[in-house]
Amino acid sequence: MTDQVYDVVVIGGGVTGAALLYSLATFTDLKRVALVEKYPQVATVNSKSSNNSQTIHCGDIETNYSLEKALKVSRSANMLVRYATQLPAELRDRVIFRYPKMVIGVGATESDLIRQRYETFKPHFAGMQLLDKAQIAEIEPSVVKADGHDRPEELAAIAVLDDYTAINYGTLAQSMVQQAQAVSDKTVDLRLGSPVQSIEPVGSNYRITTAESSMLARYVVVSAGGHSLLFAHRMGIGLEYSCLPVAGNFYYTPQVLNGKVYTVQNDKLPFAAIHGDPDVTQPGKTRFGPTALPLPLLERRNLQTFVDYLEVLRLDQTVSAVVWDLFKVRDIRNYIFKNMAFEVPMINRRLFLNDARKIVPSLKLEDLEFAYDVGGIRPQLIDKTQGKLILGQAEIDPGNGIRFNVTPSPGATTCLGNAEQDLLRIQAYLGCNVDRSWFNAEEEARSSVS
Ligand SMILES: Cc1cc2nc3c(=O)[nH]c(=O)nc-3n(C[C@H](O)[C@H](O)[C@H](O)COP(=O)(O)OP(=O)(O)OC[C@H]3O[C@@H](n4cnc5c(N)ncnc54)[C@H](O)[C@@H]3O)c2cc1C
Repeated sequence: MTDQVYDVVVIGGGVTGAALLYSLATFTDLKRVALVEKYPQVATVNSKSSNNSQTIHCGDIETNYSLEKALKVSRSANMLVRYATQLPAELRDRVIFRYPKMVIGVGATESDLIRQRYETFKPHFAGMQLLDKAQIAEIEPSVVKADGHDRPEELAAIAVLDDYTAINYGTLAQSMVQQAQAVSDKTVDLRLGSPVQSIEPVGSNYRITTAESSMLARYVVVSAGGHSLLFAHRMGIGLEYSCLPVAGNFYYTPQVLNGKVYTVQNDKLPFAAIHGDPDVTQPGKTRFGPTALPLPLLERRNLQTFVDYLEVLRLDQTVSAVVWDLFKVRDIRNYIFKNMAFEVPMINRRLFLNDARKIVPSLKLEDLEFAYDVGGIRPQLIDKTQGKLILGQAEIDPGNGIRFNVTPSPGATTCLGNAEQDLLRIQAYLGCNVDRSWFNAEEEARSSVS
């Protein structure tokens, strides 16, 4: 039997691959596209609702984002909200959620930083408010009150009180695949339960082989999390990258917060400061975390991916030097030790309680319940040519009809923004038409007003 030929095959059915499938079906004139996912359902790995923090990162309350980065991320976040809010109401209400959100500064130094950040960011983020202690208490009483009294430290917060702030990225990915398959006049194939074993160039195409079948593609996008790097390496591509997977754990408490409460991040450790969030699938609880522990796995709770990790690690002097350089920074070293201690029975909950009390000072040990089977892995890349850890996402694109996305945080928020970038590369290579007006809707609306 001859292999089917697709214009584009996407490997990996997390939210990144699902957003690309949706975008290919909706905004291009390509007629034959497919998504290949190793598990029987889409979004069961990092994009599953329980494996991430469910936050729509706009950059407004993420103090590790510069204004420039925040504006870039918020463009993608706006796309996400626009996509989700146009879904039928019943589905929309299972995908996207409104909660108040804030980042709190605790103590004089952090409160000053919050006030300065507010002045810089306010002109660009319409719904942003600066709150003092009493105003914070009105929205999030548990952040301020302990044993009936106000906590002693100075507090200030940047808040957005009336917006969409949380997403079930798993349901979102499912909806994107459904929407893609509903497009008429196109072949949009979904191959679930089909682990890709190999990708090889065949003439001007690529052959993608799974256990059961193979197919040909004029263009391939690999969005398989840390496994994207594995596929790239096996094709002799991206050998300048290694990987440092960082796992995150969470704790549940009874509901002590009404919305999302973030804390000021340490510049050297972006996304290291824990936050408290409602869990969109667990009403009546608050979820605190994530912790950050380097783990030698490409997929959480899948020990078979240890071997895959060793393959992408490509341990050599440069990788060792990057890890050693990280370890030499006191804040990072202490943080790694603390996160290792978070894994030690008997002391783990007590240590985590100290961090969580920065958000809710009245929390007690018995309030904390470890969240089993919750939390994924962030596959952070190490760039061996520059000798440094890449803190955001990465793309490997040799420009010959195949592209690899590795998407740690905030990769779920930026799934549609990343799909747009993929489409531009596909357009340049295949010469297809791409309608970008949907992606540029906000810019176009602004320029028509001015
Ligand atoms: C603790 C934590 C908290 C986070 N919080 C947030 C947050 O609040 N907001 C945010 O925007 N981001 C957050 N992130 C990041 C976010 O979860 C990821 O960026 C996002 O889920 C990545 O999606 P993905 O589709 O690229 O990868 P994944 O969801 O991991 O999907 C990859 C897919 O590839 C498939 N695959 C792998 N190998 C193969 C193969 N051989 N054949 C076929 N398929 C294969 C996998 O089965 C999987 O379905 C968080 C991450 C962590 C770990």
